[in-house]
Amino acid sequence: MSLDGHYDPSNIFGKILRGEMPSAKVFENDDVYAFMDVFPQTRGHTLVIPKRSQARNFLEESPLQLGALMQGVQIVAKAVRSALNPDGLVITQFNGTAAGQTVFHLHFHVIPRWEGQAVGRHASGGMADPSELRALAAEIAAKIEA
Ligand code: 5GP
Repeated sequence: MSLDGHYDPSNIFGKILRGEMPSAKVFENDDVYAFMDVFPQTRGHTLVIPKRSQARNFLEESPLQLGALMQGVQIVAKAVRSALNPDGLVITQFNGTAAGQTVFHLHFHVIPRWEGQAVGRHASGGMADPSELRALAAEIAAKIEA
């Protein structure tokens, strides 16, 4: 999918937001929803998405919503750090198929990294065990300071 087009509400994250698909929730406020990635690139890979937006990518989001979204990303990143004690954190975001985007509802990846530990492939590794993801989500949620 190119950078141009229309938001399709039937995308996976739209379904998660409407409760039509399960997710391991980490955090939610009026503006953002955060949950575990089911194909985690590292242990603790978390996604942060805007709740009320129909932006498919970064370019389409309103500056006001972007501000709230970035605040949410920082809240979640701090909680991931606090819960899992990584050596580093990757915060990333893809726009358009050519850039690696696979789900067309704007989102940020929070990916903890540890020295000497490899990172899995983007959106194509093994699916995590749902109960392990729920446990991790609870660990991170317990460290949220919002
Ligand atoms: P993108 O490739 O668009 O930047 O990121 C989409 C992310 O969503 C990928 O990291 C992928 O592993 C994750 N993902 C795909 N399907 C699902 C799903 O059904 N549930 C969750 N929680 N994550 C998903």
